[in-house]
Order: sequence, then structure tokens, then C-alpha cells
Amino acid sequence: MLIANALLPDGTQRHIDVKGGRIAALLPASSAVPARDDVLDVAGALLLPPLVDGHIHLDKTLLGLPWVSNETKGTKVTDRIEAERKVRAERTVPEFETGSNLVRQVVASGTLHMRSHVDIDNQLGLKNLHEVLKIRERFKGLVTIQIVAFPQSGILKSPGTAELLEAAIAEGADLVGGLDPVGIDGDLDGHLGAVFGIAEKQSVGVDIHLHDGGEGGIAQLLAIAERTTALGLKGRVAVSHAFALGSVDTDTAARTADVLARAGVAIMSHGPGGATIPPLALLREHGVEVFGGSDNIRDAWSPFGNGDMLERAMLIAYRANFRRDRDLQLAFDMVTSAAARVLRVKGMGMAVAGGPADFVAVEAGSVAEAVATRPQRKLVIKAGRVVAKDGVFTG
Ligand SMILES: [Zn+2]
Repeated sequence: MLIANALLPDGTQRHIDVKGGRIAALLPASSAVPARDDVLDVAGALLLPPLVDGHIHLDKTLLGLPWVSNETKGTKVTDRIEAERKVRAERTVPEFETGSNLVRQVVASGTLHMRSHVDIDNQLGLKNLHEVLKIRERFKGLVTIQIVAFPQSGILKSPGTAELLEAAIAEGADLVGGLDPVGIDGDLDGHLGAVFGIAEKQSVGVDIHLHDGGEGGIAQLLAIAERTTALGLKGRVAVSHAFALGSVDTDTAARTADVLARAGVAIMSHGPGGATIPPLALLREHGVEVFGGSDNIRDAWSPFGNGDMLERAMLIAYRANFRRDRDLQLAFDMVTSAAARVLRVKGMGMAVAGGPADFVAVEAGSVAEAVATRPQRKLVIKAGRVVAKDGVFTG
């Protein structure tokens, strides 16, 4: 395939020669378009790298089912866990189907790599893991799905969960997760001891949901950084949400950022609507890897979301009060390069010949414009093949 007349994120116009699913050459747009029957002329469309969703829940979504009324009684994390148990007990369509619906939808919006947390507790056992492993198999070669074994009901509060998390790693989960060590389990050392114990024993990374705010949340971040350093897990640990960083004064946030940067702990934000958002630009200035994810999409936790990571970048930018192009670029990096680094996706970026021919074509003049306007995805290309067109999954 030869992709003709593409605008690249750096502002240059190129023809891209693709061979064997990889970029063979980047030719100046001033050169004549070769007379070949495999030329795909994108007529000046902006070609973006594939989008990366650093935090999704493929097993929770109800996408494709008739609307499920959200009857959550309160606003606390524990209220939502309770509400989800009820929805889960009543659902009849397997997670394999709804999760597959979501994968098709996110691919149509340009996402080709994702990290999915998967619920594990002593009632569910490994059922949801098995569903998501089947989804991963179904879409193999199209999307990469990294799996986090996620203790949604806590670890100490749900006896037997630690053993299940370890079994999940043995069966194919890639990382071990955690959830509010203090807010849910009420035992910082007990919870982190279990999570990092599994990480050490199984040689896997860690991604912990931390909603706990204020100084208490900061103390938990510092404890996570300490254990990361002690086990030599630099660059392999992430904290999702970390609302605490946005609920303390700037000095405390900056001091904590320095500790996180030294330890190599990344921070994921989805641009929360109802909680404090970490100071993303400050974190980045202090050397912390910040990346983005959808989190909940049409599930018992949230009626919203669609898995569109350009829209997610806009929501993050909106919540962070970003206005300048370079700030919108940061939001875009969070759902492309930064998330790819955290997920250890190889060969992201399009400047280098030899890299994978994975692209998303949109009608925009720049990355900043694409974030602001979230244009329809004209084409999603995976390894030199069109897998979605005009927002519709073609597979
Ligand atoms: Zn989550």
C-alpha cells in the first residue's frame, strides 16, 4: 500500500510506502505519486499514530445491551461496588459479547492498544478473567490487550483474593492491580504487601486504583513509591486516578511528584468529572509519566463514555483547563506516546521507517485541532490494512 498526501503530526506532508505491514519509506509529498493500483490517497488528511487506552474495563461494560438504569444509592466507591454486584447478578449476556462490542467500537475510533483491568474477588473468582482472555484471543493481531488482575472488592476484605490474583497471573493476566489500600481494605501495609508480594514473585508490573484523597492519599502514594524502588520496579508501576494529588496544596503535590518521578511510578487520569484531577502539567514538569484512559464506559459505574481516546484527550484537557496548543499536545501525548511507554508498546511513532504501519486518519490541520474537534476517524489502519472506515469497524 502507498498512503499518498498525508499530513503528519509534525506538519510535514508525506507519501508513506508500506510493505509487509511496516513503514518502508516516507517520501516527500512533492514527489510524484507512483502509478500503482494500491495507492490510498488521503488527500491531506492528518495521519495520527494509533490511540492507546491506558485504563479500560472490558468486563464491566454493558455496551450493546438495552439501557440499564443506574440505581447507585450513594457516591462513595463502596456504594458503586454494591450497585455493580446487583447489575452483575442480573445480567444475562456474557462479558465476552459486551466486551467484544466495546473492542469493535474503540478500534473504530482509532485505539489499537489498551490496558484492561479485570474484576477478581472471592465471589467472581476468575470468571471475568476468562471472558477477557477470550476477547483478547478473538481480536489477536488487531489490538493488543494488556490485562490487570484487579481486586475490585479489596484483598483483605475479600479473603482468598490474593491467591486468585496470583492464579490470574499464571493464567495470562499481565499485571497485578490494587484498590484503595486504606479506603477499602483499611490496611496500607497489608494491601500493598499482598500486591507487591505477587509482583515480586511473578515478576509482573503493578497498576493500583487509588481514589483516596488528601494527605491520606499522598501517604499511600509515597508508600507505593517506596515499595516500587525497593523491588526495582521502576517504570513498571502505575497509579490510576491519584485524586489526592489534585486535592493538596501545590508544594505537597510537587514534593510528591519528585518522589514518584524518582521511583518511576506513572499516573493515569481519565479527566474525572466528580473528583479532583491531578496537576498533570506540574507532574510532567517534575518528570512523572502521566497517561490517559477511559475508565468506565456504559457500565454500573458510569453511564457515560464511548472509548474514543481523542474525546478522552479533550475531556482531560477540559478538566485540566488546558487552552494552548502545547497543552492540548500534552493531553494527546497522554493517549498516545505516554500510554504506549507505560504499556511498553513497541514501535509507536511514525517518523521512523521500519515501524508498524498503524495510523488513524482524521480531517484536521494539527494535533491540537484534532483534540479540540474530535473529528470522525476517516480511516484506521493496522499493519497496512484498513480496519475501520468513517467510524465503522470493518475488522
Ligand atoms: Zn478503573
